[in-house]
Amino acid sequence: MNIHEYQAKEILKEYGVAVPIGIPAFSVEEAVAAAEQLKEKGASLFVLKAQIHAGGRGKGRTVKSGAKGVMLCKSVEEVRKGAEDLLGDTLVTIQTGDAGKQVQRLYVTDGVDIDKEFYVGVTLDRAVGKNVIMVSTEGGVEIEKVAEETPDKIIKEWVEPGQPLYPNQARRLAFALGLSGDAFKKAVKFIMALYSAFDKTDASIFEINPLVLTPDNDILALDAKINFDDNALYRHPELKELRDVTEEDPFELEAGKFNLNYIKLDGNVGCMVNGAGLAMATMDIIKLAGGEPANFLDVGGGANVETVKNGFKIILSDPSVKVILINIFGGIVRCDRVANGVLEAVKDPEIAEKVKGVPIIVRLQGTNAEEAKKIIDDSGMNVISAVLLKEAAQEVTNAIA
Ligand code: ADP
Ligand code: MG
Repeated sequence: MNIHEYQAKEILKEYGVAVPIGIPAFSVEEAVAAAEQLKEKGASLFVLKAQIHAGGRGKGRTVKSGAKGVMLCKSVEEVRKGAEDLLGDTLVTIQTGDAGKQVQRLYVTDGVDIDKEFYVGVTLDRAVGKNVIMVSTEGGVEIEKVAEETPDKIIKEWVEPGQPLYPNQARRLAFALGLSGDAFKKAVKFIMALYSAFDKTDASIFEINPLVLTPDNDILALDAKINFDDNALYRHPELKELRDVTEEDPFELEAGKFNLNYIKLDGNVGCMVNGAGLAMATMDIIKLAGGEPANFLDVGGGANVETVKNGFKIILSDPSVKVILINIFGGIVRCDRVANGVLEAVKDPEIAEKVKGVPIIVRLQGTNAEEAKKIIDDSGMNVISAVLLKEAAQEVTNAIA
């Protein structure tokens, strides 16, 4: 689960990670009031930041007003103007894709003088099964580029499972940033607190880009991206409340309500599969046959009429879908029942209307597979049966061609 920058910074603050003062705002008036409040606390420069679940805001522009996603404002009036431009407009950044994201929330924060911009990130290094903390002097820019072009500029420390991050590790990282004196001490404290927050919240990603050094030798997180491990959210009811569903893909959200595991992709072949492994293999075979999957959809173990119906509804709500491939392995669930379920689902008036002109290819393997094929072939309906996965994929490419 992703959260907004302003929410991430609240969490960081609770764990003693240094962040500039800032206030979220949901309207122009709130943004103005926030700026005034910050002014009373001594802020003379403000930074107005669009809150969307995507990075690259600083270089991004809104569609209508052409406003930047991160703006430096010299006065409360400039904050007002910026808020008017941003709220409700669509911000397009390198991470949002062309469609962009609508700005519904803002963050007004203290404008900080920057001496140097660094990068610090924490995540799980799956290859070694340990958490890794990464720092780089190349902050503020795309860290992916640094990792690709100059990987030696990223310095890492790993944490053994069940062990804390040790202060000597944090010191090595702070040293790698070229810091000394007061700034060095603050960076060590920052890194220790950051790791503790990551660990205690069961996060999967913490990314501070940029982490900055100010002329007063302060170390501050100017940006914060946090992603939590969904499987651990049941342990954190307070974090669950931070979810902003308006930032999520509407199809994926809908699928979640049906307990379907759905991820939207860019192709035009809708797939409905039982089991994540088979779903991956099905996507591979579609690509191998020259097609592009429109989605990943795992309907789970019990592929009954209801789940198949819901699966169809989700797949068909994506207008790019030109053909549907159903690939079900009947182990626990019998193939003949799935076949009947598919036919029944296709007869559902809502689905029947949408499925017109969208060929459906069904490949059922496992218990009673032959019976299932016969049921489909004898149905007289516009559903094509296949036995081998290769055949199914070929039918798919034929259907699109
Ligand atoms: P994004 O990563 O989405 O572009 P950031 O929060 O990293 O957004 O902001 C982009 C850039 O704007 C930063 O690299 C930094 O140079 C500047 N910036 C962000 N927040 C502040 C701030 N509070 N004070 C001064 N400059 C800031
Ligand atoms: Mg950033």
